[in-house]
Amino acid sequence: MSNHDQLHRYLFENYAVRGELVTISETYQQMLANHDYPAPVQTLLGEMLVATSLLTATLKFEGDITVQLQGDGPLKLAVINGNNQQEMRGVARLQGEIADDSTLHQMIGNGVMVITITPAEGERYQGIVALEGATLAACLENYFQQSEQLPTRLFIRTGEAADKPAAGGMLLQVLPAQDDKNADDFDHLVQLTHTIKSEELFTLPANEVLYRLYHQEEVTLYEPQPVVFRCSCSRQRCADALLTLPADEVAEMLEQDGNIDMNCDYCGSHYLFTPTDVAALYTGNTDESDRLH
Ligand SMILES: [Zn+2]
Repeated sequence: MSNHDQLHRYLFENYAVRGELVTISETYQQMLANHDYPAPVQTLLGEMLVATSLLTATLKFEGDITVQLQGDGPLKLAVINGNNQQEMRGVARLQGEIADDSTLHQMIGNGVMVITITPAEGERYQGIVALEGATLAACLENYFQQSEQLPTRLFIRTGEAADKPAAGGMLLQVLPAQDDKNADDFDHLVQLTHTIKSEELFTLPANEVLYRLYHQEEVTLYEPQPVVFRCSCSRQRCADALLTLPADEVAEMLEQDGNIDMNCDYCGSHYLFTPTDVAALYTGNTDESDRLH
């Protein structure tokens, strides 16, 4: 077993093609820990987690990416958010029964995939992709074709290792401005990568996976980046959200429940605001604002 979740970037010396390999089982397990999702939802979240990690690794600036599936089916919403530090989180919301053998389209119904890229500085970009592919990977490949015009392939694996949920994946992408020259080579590398087995990806060190897949090629493997489950929620963010609500609505919440208990869907954290806390928010006295309940 690998020690912890990591994202690896690699480059083919003789082709204008780059690659990524991510192992993300621990992050996946932590993301599922506070929830009781049906099996197909769990699998889909795992696939989205792998995809979002691979996507954020293509960012050339500080920022984050949200991949969201939404529709009118029993799975109302599935969302993964990750940043260039490979800090990942995700959640799903259900509005109906989901059978164990449900497909992506049966779960989402009429829906779309929304990809939001939010740079730390600068304009937010949002792309909406029709769920035309049979799989999440196919839908994302369509997205790359539309948005970056770079031939890109994703290889997503979810399952179990040592009786725990496991997930990992790989990405191959033609480097910009060289796509014509390398089209045949790209297909060749895609064929090789396609043979990756879930178990190999979940349990072997990255250099061994790359050797098994590409032993006749010259591949440079770069220093890995750790991948972690981390939620960006905070007491301050909850306080900011409270302050955006009309004051009489906040007063009504206090009157009904005594306190305001804000719950983060992603990580299960609770942030409790007493009437005194709320009063302090309005007077701008935020001395207590970092206190975590
Ligand atoms: Zn949270």
